[in-house]
Amino acid sequence: ADLAAEPPAARLIPQPGVMARPHDSHKGRFGDVAVVGGAPGMGGAALLAASAALHAGAGRVFCALLGEPMPLVPGQPELMLRDWASLDLAAMAVACGCGGGDAVRAVLPRVLSTARALVLDADALNAVAADAALHPLLAARPARGWSTVLTPHPLEAARLLGAATQAVQADRLASAQALADRFRCVAVLKGSGTVVAAPGQVPWINPTGTAALATGGTGDVLAGLLAARLAAGQDAFEAAGQGVFLHGAAADRWPVGHSLTAGALAKALSPRASDQAGIR
Ligand code: AMP
Ligand code: MG
Repeated sequence: ADLAAEPPAARLIPQPGVMARPHDSHKGRFGDVAVVGGAPGMGGAALLAASAALHAGAGRVFCALLGEPMPLVPGQPELMLRDWASLDLAAMAVACGCGGGDAVRAVLPRVLSTARALVLDADALNAVAADAALHPLLAARPARGWSTVLTPHPLEAARLLGAATQAVQADRLASAQALADRFRCVAVLKGSGTVVAAPGQVPWINPTGTAALATGGTGDVLAGLLAARLAAGQDAFEAAGQGVFLHGAAADRWPVGHSLTAGALAKALSPRASDQAGIR
């Protein structure tokens, strides 16, 4: 085998649902992802997460949009749109553009008490920070064997910890560990040198990624990627570490002189995409 032709990430990191697909596989084997999000004017965030989940190898991706109905999803006909009420919460990425309003607060109790694997991002994190009544629901998840991954950027982490953003940034390892311990979850503290922490684990600093990622929607893409790995049955700490690594690695191989957009990043998540030159 010509190992040199393989991208390093594809060689070193198992890709649930993408790399090793047994000949007799069917889509049910690679897990369902359900995305909730898309407050009015923010539908794109939920769709970016859903697109990332598809490109990361999820078997099926469902999407419930909390804002205006969106009967057609341009460019992503694989997605299955559902009403929130009929959404089956197998594994999910939540709050990709949920808006700060009542919608996200209304959906979180059901999400926290039924989703077996969960990624909470953005406004879902802000809602958790603002409403202590949700904390017992989060804390009860590990005893049920359910995993949770929180993906705050520094400001969201500061709200969750009740601290100043500067204090979070002054010791990112300790901040990520404090989040993991307080909410009994895997904490992904985003930004340059993303930190991944979990209770009882040694926290880990991601070496991949560039400032090209500092553009709208890349965090939503990460949430969808992590949800796909959870849906495939991966351990949450491992899924978070490997997902963060691959998200950054996709940016590292971005062609010089081309702006990175979140939509194109989602498409580049398949390890096979790294075999192609340029952006498709
Ligand atoms: P968000 O803050 O939710 O928009 O997410 C932005 C994503 O881009 C996260 O995965 C960050 O870790 C990543 N990111 C942003 N800026 C940088 C940077 N300067 N270097 C590496 N990764 C970055
Ligand atoms: Mg974000």
